[in-house]
Amino acid sequence: MTTLPHSDPKCRDLLDGWFKQFREALGRDDFRGLDGLIAEDCYWRDLLTFGWKLQTHHGIGPILSWLRGSYRKGAAQNLRLVGEITNAGLGDVFSETIESFFDFETSVATARGYLRLVPDSSSPVGARAVTILTAMRELHDFPEPSKQRRPRVTAMVFDEGAKAAPQPGNDPDVLIIGAGQSGLMLAARLSHNGIKTLLVDRNSRVGDLWRQRYRTLKLHNETCMNHFPYLPFPETWPVYLPRDKVVSWLEFYAESMDLDIAHDTTCLGGRFDEASGTWTIRLKPHDGSEYTLNPKHVVLATGVSGFPDVPAIDGADTFTGTIVHSSEVNDAFDVRDKTVVVVGAGTSAHDIAQMSHVNGGKVTMIQRSPITVVSLEPSAALPFGIYRNNDGIKHIDDLDLIYASVPYDLVRRLQIGMSKTMMKLDEELLSGLRKVGFLLDNGHDDTGWVMKLFRYQAGYYLNIGASDLIVEEKIKLRSGVGIARLDESSVVLSDGSRLPADIVVFATGYQPLEKSVARLFGEDVAARVGPIYGIGNDGELQNMYGATGQPHFYVTGGGFAGARSYSRYTTLLIKAQLEGLLSGQASAKPDTDSMGAKTTPRRTAAHA
Ligand SMILES: Cc1cc2nc3c(=O)[nH]c(=O)nc-3n(C[C@H](O)[C@H](O)[C@H](O)COP(=O)(O)OP(=O)(O)OC[C@H]3O[C@@H](n4cnc5c(N)ncnc54)[C@H](O)[C@@H]3O)c2cc1C
Repeated sequence: MTTLPHSDPKCRDLLDGWFKQFREALGRDDFRGLDGLIAEDCYWRDLLTFGWKLQTHHGIGPILSWLRGSYRKGAAQNLRLVGEITNAGLGDVFSETIESFFDFETSVATARGYLRLVPDSSSPVGARAVTILTAMRELHDFPEPSKQRRPRVTAMVFDEGAKAAPQPGNDPDVLIIGAGQSGLMLAARLSHNGIKTLLVDRNSRVGDLWRQRYRTLKLHNETCMNHFPYLPFPETWPVYLPRDKVVSWLEFYAESMDLDIAHDTTCLGGRFDEASGTWTIRLKPHDGSEYTLNPKHVVLATGVSGFPDVPAIDGADTFTGTIVHSSEVNDAFDVRDKTVVVVGAGTSAHDIAQMSHVNGGKVTMIQRSPITVVSLEPSAALPFGIYRNNDGIKHIDDLDLIYASVPYDLVRRLQIGMSKTMMKLDEELLSGLRKVGFLLDNGHDDTGWVMKLFRYQAGYYLNIGASDLIVEEKIKLRSGVGIARLDESSVVLSDGSRLPADIVVFATGYQPLEKSVARLFGEDVAARVGPIYGIGNDGELQNMYGATGQPHFYVTGGGFAGARSYSRYTTLLIKAQLEGLLSGQASAKPDTDSMGAKTTPRRTAAHA
């Protein structure tokens, strides 16, 4: 492999030469010549353009066999490089890269790609691709009515019947269960694309879930990566948004995007009718009545707030104090001068322990197994530097593409080095934690908190102060033990010791989303959908955002950036299906084990 200084004008020549050959190879039946353009270690991630799926292929062999199976000659037309060339690098895996966007069209849509090349003298054109992203943007026949194509009036306000009033007979095309940030973002995209969409939420107002959390809560990712589709946050807003700003933004967003929401309405579940291709969904408003709607598509956007996971503990019925799950803890939670035992050591456990300490409680945290701790600054922000470094410079849609161009398996490889950097940066904090007996790990494969986020949404804490309180022993810690049972006034630990307690908080997370699916739609549907979230054998998040094994059923969620970025693809899929562009149901079920990876066991905790 040869290397080039970043400023070398040869980069342009290499990119142009490579791209010309790439375009030609894609025009041949047998893709002859492609193997000379692609590194053995290359990843090609495709978001809907060549197969209505979110998929990743790794290595020349798997890439070629996927293309032979899915790519029809000439499927990508008018391939052209766009924008500026970037010299960058991907950590210690591909340290020097030449990067560029490219645009093309398929028979149904416009698409945008992102390329990473490395100079390589063994290639006939002097460079090989190490990552290729191809992603659908807009359907030719149904372009987004934005900017120069914006509607002359707000159809949803002026057209009678355009709004899907939540009543029988006025069925939406899409029913989204949950009006949290994920549901709202997807609803905005769907509605904007002319799809009649209804959100249902058991809460009374948008943002209630956040309102119920403690006032001092701040987001853990920076504002520059948390923007909403079509409506970015003001440029002047702080780096970490406080709870009340999140709440007011969610309400403002729902209002300004004209979203249709049935509040105070719990979705009780439903069933899918294969013959008609519609769902019958049972809805229960808080007035006690019940009605059904028949949407064509259902999207689960219930976050992890579905069903709290509270372990059955011997003696709980004899305990005279208060037992709560973390989901029930809010500002009104009175802990002054009380002895609080927090069971768990994830994010919620830390947040509640910190809040209880600040509010005058005497707090002990019970940590059964190790977790990963990183500082919010500088460590937690490192993996998302692309957003911070380009804040106000590149469009958020382009940043999402650059981020998406690094498949999860490559993220894993990058995090081996990056998590070590974080540990170095956080040395003082981590050694302080070790001294008081806090159990730390860096993930089973040494990839730190980022891979725990993508695999389990749990098992780490981004320190916003609770770790310091633990180090200072203001929050007491019992580690390496679990709860054996409760008695009248105390928690009995697995080593036989006792902790007096007025309040026991179970910060033990939530049941996996699969269980929510089973409870709402039955075991058959849950089995067809399969595991949700976590990285599957195909290298993609399992059954998130794309079509699932259950026809007309989607799941959305994750953090703000994921929900924003991938709501585009859910929308494209649903629109294509509604307009008859898909022959049959697009299947998201992994059909190859292209990553050779194992599906890891997962658990779900309070939040990312
Ligand atoms: C302290 C803290 C910091 C955070 N920081 C960040 C951050 O910096 N970046 C980031 O990306 N994320 C952050 N998060 C957000 C979190 O990670 C999740 O991404 C987010 O809350 C999930 O949003 P959601 O829309 O998927 O689900 P939720 O917000 O949980 O919304 C789900 C909705 O579904 C409704 N619902 C559930 N079941 C039903 C039913 N059967 N019928 C009707 N309605 C139902 C609920 O009422 C709720 O309104 C943070 C969270 C916390 C607590």
